[in-house]
Amino acid sequence: MIMIDHEGCIKCVGCSSVCPKNAIEYIGERMATYPELCIDCGLCIKACPANVIELFPKIKDISQLPPEARKKYNV
Ligand code: SF4
Ligand code: SF4
Repeated sequence: MIMIDHEGCIKCVGCSSVCPKNAIEYIGERMATYPELCIDCGLCIKACPANVIELFPKIKDISQLPPEARKKYNV
């Protein structure tokens, strides 16, 4: 799954436009992610001009994120 630092996101939707699985969507004035759809391909990271996307391979649920990541993303 990916996590997005929403503070730094400029809402360009570049990430969602390259995602092959529709795992990112602009909704409610920010980018929403769908971990169950993500295949960890990393294309969104390469497409992000603000460098605010981080990949956590093989993780499918926020509860599985490392503690430091949960703290960073406030989840
Ligand atoms: S890592 Fe790939 S599948 Fe997952 S959200 Fe990014 S572009 Fe989509
Ligand atoms: S590509 Fe980066 S800056 Fe653009 S909407 Fe996605 S996360 Fe935000």
